[in-house]
Formats: sequence, structure tokens, C-alpha cells
Amino acid sequence: MPELPEVETTRRGIAPYLEGREIHEVIVRNRRLRLPVPEGLENALIGSRIGTLSRRAKYLILPIESPTDSAVTDGAPVGDALHDEEAAGPALLWHLGMSGSLRIARLGDPPKKHDHVDLVMEDGAILRYHDPRRFGFLDWLQGDVASDRRFVRLGPEPLSPAFDDERLFQCSRKRRLAVKPFLMDNAVVVGVGNIYAAEALFLAGIDPRRAAGQISRERYVRLTAAIREVLSSAITQGGTTLRDFVSGTGEPGYFAQRLNVYGRDGEPCRRCGRELRLVTLGQRASVFCPNCQT
Ligand SMILES: [Zn+2]
Repeated sequence: MPELPEVETTRRGIAPYLEGREIHEVIVRNRRLRLPVPEGLENALIGSRIGTLSRRAKYLILPIESPTDSAVTDGAPVGDALHDEEAAGPALLWHLGMSGSLRIARLGDPPKKHDHVDLVMEDGAILRYHDPRRFGFLDWLQGDVASDRRFVRLGPEPLSPAFDDERLFQCSRKRRLAVKPFLMDNAVVVGVGNIYAAEALFLAGIDPRRAAGQISRERYVRLTAAIREVLSSAITQGGTTLRDFVSGTGEPGYFAQRLNVYGRDGEPCRRCGRELRLVTLGQRASVFCPNCQT
């Protein structure tokens, strides 16, 4: 499943081919994604220009600058104090779901099975959406992105200054929930999925079963740094696969990473050599080292 680093790598990979470009054609081969592709999306997009791509949690945001934007207002209230110009709609919101991927194809590259949506740019670059399981979706946002119901309750981005050990520590007080599902709660911090929660807890030496509220301030300092480290290093590794986003063949690289614990149940700990153990926390498999993580 694409997690935050894959979504961020996707953003960086596709942005140079889209930003400032006009959309010439929209091809929807299958509207039945997790949310149906909005009717009329084709007409709304053709002739529009794509603004600066951003990401919030695992959502990709493609601002759409309609050619009529400057001349026509739709009567929506704008200009409130919190209004972020960059986040002002309309925008295309794209979520990759369980198995979705976006890459750049060229005119003449034949679509493959499960290539459901193409946005064809003025210069012939094609943003092509591939999703075998169709749990991903794209949605059309009219208003301010930040006030969309999907975003209002989200915690801070883990790689932004808004995420720090003090905040994490304060959020955890009186929480009996095990620390691993606590980290995976989007209201606490966004984008720390199963893989990266397990890896960060290993780096910080914290047992994933421990109650979030019972962990010391000092250990949250280490944990915060570990979360940043695992996500940043995954994004850096992803950067080396960026060329995969423009190849005419194959899938974009959801890069194979060197993981310490995730998926390594029963194998030896890379640090101490003891056998890694599997537990289920919040209905998710969690592998950890009972010796290194206390
Ligand atoms: Zn160990």
C-alpha cells in the first residue's frame, strides 16, 4: 500500500510534468473507483492549467486554474482571515488507495489493464492512473482545500515543524492505547502507517505494546526523531527511483527498502540477533524485538 513516502515521491516525480501545463484531454476508462469519478470532470478540466502540487497526509492535491477563474466568481465566500491562497480551490484531490499509482506516459504509449484515468497535457505528457484494486479515487474540490471535511481533523505533517516531541508527548497523556496504534491515529500525526510506525518504534527502542500514556517525555524525544528519520530516509530512497515515473513501461517504483522489523517475523534482530516477535495491535500485525524494545 502506498504510504506517505510513496505519495510524496509520486508528487515529486510527476510535478515537473504537470505544473503550469494546460490539460488538453481527459480520458476516463473506468469511473468506478472507490468514489465514482465525478460526472463532468472532463469538461471541468479541459483547458485548465495545473498549479503547484501539494500533499496532505496521503492525499495529492492538484490545484486547477480554470481559464475563466479570473473573470467569474461562483459566489463562494473568500478572503477570510485563515484563507490560504495556495489552498484555495478548485483542486483535484487524488488518493492512491491500496494499490494505486500515478506515472507519466507519453502520447502513443498504449494503456494497460487497470489504467483507469489519463490527463493529457498540452505537450503530450500524460498523467496516467493505474489501480488494480480500485480503492483509490479522485475527487473535485470546489472550495478551500484546508476546510474540506477530510482535512479538518488531521494532525500535523510528520516532517513539518508543527510535529514535535512536546506535542506528541502532550497528546499521549492519559492514553491507554498501545503506542503503535496511537502513532497510526491521523488525529495525532498523519501518514505514519503500519510499516513506519513499526520501524520508528524499533529505532527508538520502544515496545509497541506499551501504553502511549506510560511513555516518558525523554522517550518521546527519541521517538519523534525516529519517525522523522524513517520517513525522510524512505523519501530519499524513493528519490532514486524517480526516473521510473516517466518510463513507458512497468510500474513506478514503490521502492524496496531495507526494513528492520516490518515483515520480518521470526527472523533475527539486526541489532541483537534475537528472534523478532509478532503481536497484533489495533488489528494490525506488529513485529518487534523483545530484547531491544522495552
Ligand atoms: Zn534486538
